Amino acid sequence: MRDDERTPRRDATTRPTRSQETRDTGRTRRRFIWLTGTAAMAGLAGCSGGGGGATETTTATATTTQSSGSTGGVPEAYATATSLDGTQRNPDSLSSQEAVSYQDEPKDGKQCSTCRYYIEDKNGDGVGACAIVAGEIAPEGYCVSYVEYEG
Ligand code: SF4
Repeated sequence: MRDDERTPRRDATTRPTRSQETRDTGRTRRRFIWLTGTAAMAGLAGCSGGGGGATETTTATATTTQSSGSTGGVPEAYATATSLDGTQRNPDSLSSQEAVSYQDEPKDGKQCSTCRYYIEDKNGDGVGACAIVAGEIAPEGYCVSYVEYEG
């Protein structure tokens, strides 16, 4: 039997040393830790990004109608009166003051007395009405349906 037919002996250069195994295991462990850390960070970024993605938008609409008596909450003289721009008030088709966020004071220089829908005082009590909103309306009031009268 020739020397080269014998089972080759493992020499020191092909056998993994203990220090190599330790390095490989350490490298594998470090890679595992890096991967799990990266995954965790990605998960956290997904949770915190954009504040949850919900954006709340509030838009006031004047769709609620109110039937407070046959005149819509105003003296008879205002029931079907016309506003500054000639819009005729319909007591059966008015928004409630709550629906249009009516307030008794101006907002940003806007007030009912300069709104196209305002119906001026007819009986000398200092308040008027509105062609599209129920109830008595102060000239210095305001609501979200305000449209400047340009007549
Ligand atoms: S601001 Fe609103 S309540 Fe006042 S007159 Fe205009 S629409 Fe009517």
